[in-house]
Amino acid sequence: MSENAPPAAQERAIELIRSSKRVYIGTHIRPDGDALGSMLGLALALEQCGKRTAPLCAFPVPDGYRFLPAHERVSSRPPEWPADLGIVVDCDGISRLGDVQQAFAGLPHLIDIDHHATDQSFGEVSLVEPSASAAAEIVYRLLRRLGAAIDADIATCLYTGILTDTGRFSHANTSSASLAIAAELVQAGARPHRIARKLYEERSIEATHLLGLALSRLSRDHDGKVVSAILTRADFVDTGADGADTEGIIDHLRAIDGPQVALLLVETEDDHVRVSLRSDGRVDVSAIAYAFGGGGHAAAAGCTIAGGAEAAKSALLAQIHRRLSEPLPDDAA
Ligand code: 5GP
Ligand code: MN
Repeated sequence: MSENAPPAAQERAIELIRSSKRVYIGTHIRPDGDALGSMLGLALALEQCGKRTAPLCAFPVPDGYRFLPAHERVSSRPPEWPADLGIVVDCDGISRLGDVQQAFAGLPHLIDIDHHATDQSFGEVSLVEPSASAAAEIVYRLLRRLGAAIDADIATCLYTGILTDTGRFSHANTSSASLAIAAELVQAGARPHRIARKLYEERSIEATHLLGLALSRLSRDHDGKVVSAILTRADFVDTGADGADTEGIIDHLRAIDGPQVALLLVETEDDHVRVSLRSDGRVDVSAIAYAFGGGGHAAAAGCTIAGGAEAAKSALLAQIHRRLSEPLPDDAA
């Protein structure tokens, strides 16, 4: 069942948007399809309502999302004009904005639109709906209530958010509401075949080689209940792939029958490890990510850990061990 944000919060958000003229819209570092789709869909719709908007993200738009309408407007630098309202989408904490966080500090009003269970509500108004499959779903409902016209560009952005965050309508968060909204977005001009092609069928040869490396070194721990893969800095040099090319690799690990938890560990240039965690539903991986300063959803979460990948993996395996659904014979915890 869909749990919408309290009516009073929705009304207050509409009031704030109606009375605003200049809006900064921000989303999280290492943006994904929902982050960018929600931000750009909202920006385009508010512009159609006569407002000036600035879509802000600390990271550049990955090549794979450069088909999104208005992607070229995403900037890591706030414009010279001041905003009277800030809206932050798909962030479970204000710090997820990274370096654009400062642009939102001190704005007269702030709205938090999110669907993470780990959301540490921030802002004057929180539209946080953990049962929503994507932030794009909440944005869509908000725009409908606002009476905004949804054109094909806006629909393309929001459809992308729902498609990516539901894993192409396959994850446990896929609800009748997400499918109904997706249908309305197609009605409004989103083209499912074209969007799916752009997202899933234009993988570069470099990214494909990187995927191959990850799949060639799967390892299993805790009696096969955890499957993991590590990508080192050298792998990026060898393949010519970049950080954004890791997207989608975790889905291949998640698709393996048997393990309760899948882990992808990617070494970054600054001696950290980016971790993606996925669960088959038996383990809440957001709690594990949270223990390492990250967050996410019960079935999909992430975190960043300082140091090397092997040490990060050991620390994660120790945390996961305690949470596996069936205690292992040697479980001393
Ligand atoms: P992914 O593994 O695709 O990067 O992320 C899976 C989910 O976890 C997404 O909902 C994402 O927003 C969230 N997530 C990933 N990394 C972090 C992190 O470092 N901190 C927080 N709070 N959430 C994260
Ligand atoms: Mn999301």
